[in-house]
Amino acid sequence: MAQKSKARNKRKYAPRATGISWRLFGTLVLFVLLSLIVIWIFQIVLLNDFYEQSKMAEFVANGEGIFANIDNEEKMKESVYKYSAQTDMCIRLFKAVDGEAKELASSDISAGCMLHHVEAYGLSQLYKHAKQNNGVFTKNIAKPVDENKHVNTIYVSLESNSKGYEYILMMESELIPLNATVMTLQRQFGWIMCILIMGALIVALAISKIICVPLQKMSRSAHRLAKGDYKAEFDGGTYKEAAELAEALNYAADELAKNDNLQRELVANISHDLRTPLTMIKGYGEVIRDIPGENTPENVQVIIDETERLTELVNDMLDLSKIRAGTRKPERESFNLTETVGAVLKRYEKLTEKDGYQISFDADGDVFINADRTMILQVVYNLINNALNYTGEDKKVSIVQSVWDNKVRISVIDTGDGIAEKDIPYIWDRYYKVDKVHKRAKIGTGLGLSIVKGILESHEAVYGVESRVGEGSNFWFEFEMFNVVDDSEMAER
Ligand code: ADP
Repeated sequence: MAQKSKARNKRKYAPRATGISWRLFGTLVLFVLLSLIVIWIFQIVLLNDFYEQSKMAEFVANGEGIFANIDNEEKMKESVYKYSAQTDMCIRLFKAVDGEAKELASSDISAGCMLHHVEAYGLSQLYKHAKQNNGVFTKNIAKPVDENKHVNTIYVSLESNSKGYEYILMMESELIPLNATVMTLQRQFGWIMCILIMGALIVALAISKIICVPLQKMSRSAHRLAKGDYKAEFDGGTYKEAAELAEALNYAADELAKNDNLQRELVANISHDLRTPLTMIKGYGEVIRDIPGENTPENVQVIIDETERLTELVNDMLDLSKIRAGTRKPERESFNLTETVGAVLKRYEKLTEKDGYQISFDADGDVFINADRTMILQVVYNLINNALNYTGEDKKVSIVQSVWDNKVRISVIDTGDGIAEKDIPYIWDRYYKVDKVHKRAKIGTGLGLSIVKGILESHEAVYGVESRVGEGSNFWFEFEMFNVVDDSEMAER
């Protein structure tokens, strides 16, 4: 046991956790690095590929644009100049007539355009390649004299119109070398990384400060609370999650304070309740021992009564603690509830005769329920006891059994002073007494209703009280009826 609690303490008080700022910094740096890797791949590694792809897309789009007017040569010519200007490309358009290529349009917008300087043989070679390649051909050509090693791309596309004429479109565009751009980007990358990591550190420190300050405050308050200072306040700051935590902790602190008060009250009540009969027993015992002639049956009866009361008190406390701890679980059986209530009433016959109490029981027919009989006996007993204790001058208590919808309700009704509405929610609590003074000689243990509540809740039964000041109270509980098949019925079947 001792070892176990030691282990628990170790877990509680020596957490090996990393601070929020480091966690946050780590996460942000990871995020920055991942982002930079993605940017590196796209901006540097794949830059050339993307550039070439976009150039190719431009060629295709121009081709489609120009050949859109393939049945209208004038418009086609116009679009050659338009696309050439738009995309900064040299474009030549030919029409194949009787095996010869007749030039329809030529846009030479760049001085270094090889398409306009190549000989007829070169052009026919390009045409041939396109013809063999499903009407499309692309070729990269390095400029013959160029220190920057510029490369031009030539794109050839063939298309026939509805009249069967074939048109040859040749376009040329310069591929600007991206090496210099890539190098610049690479050089910038180191700086970008340093700046972003510094930024991550600053952001992590700032955010963690905002989050940590209320957490640290709450942690200090929790230490105060642990030392028994129930006034410790938890302030979660402006963040929703921290504010919710603070609210929960404030609630816990309030509940702990209440519990602590209840505990103190409980100890005070128990010691008081135990001391009163003990004092009586001791007093009467001494009288019987010391004073001749005092050894009377009445005096001995007082000792017996007080001992009974002590037993009752101790039993009640045990019952309640077992119910609350959940160790006393209902052992359900089907039994006759009507008969059980009648059996409790039998116990009061003497009281009825001697003190003039009138206890009536109104039930039409026997009802069976499935519950722990001993526990239900205790509920009925406690409710009738209270009713007798608190009923009015007419000393009337009525018990009513009502049945409807497969349900049975037992109501214990008295004609006493009733209970104020504000007290009703609390009467089920341990040791709650409305006026702290009992009307009858019989002193309650202050645990009766909390035992009733514990038992009925362990049965998941519905229960309650209706009470009006000056008119009396009606304590009731309900159970599902249990249908027992009569032996005679079984025989008939
Ligand atoms: P006690 O031993 O004090 O009767 P209980 O737990 O049985 O303890 O009842 C708690 C409180 O509820 C009582 O002190 C009393 O104030 C109130 N109470 C219970 N039953 C009745 C009743 N029939 N009429 C009026 N007040 C009642």
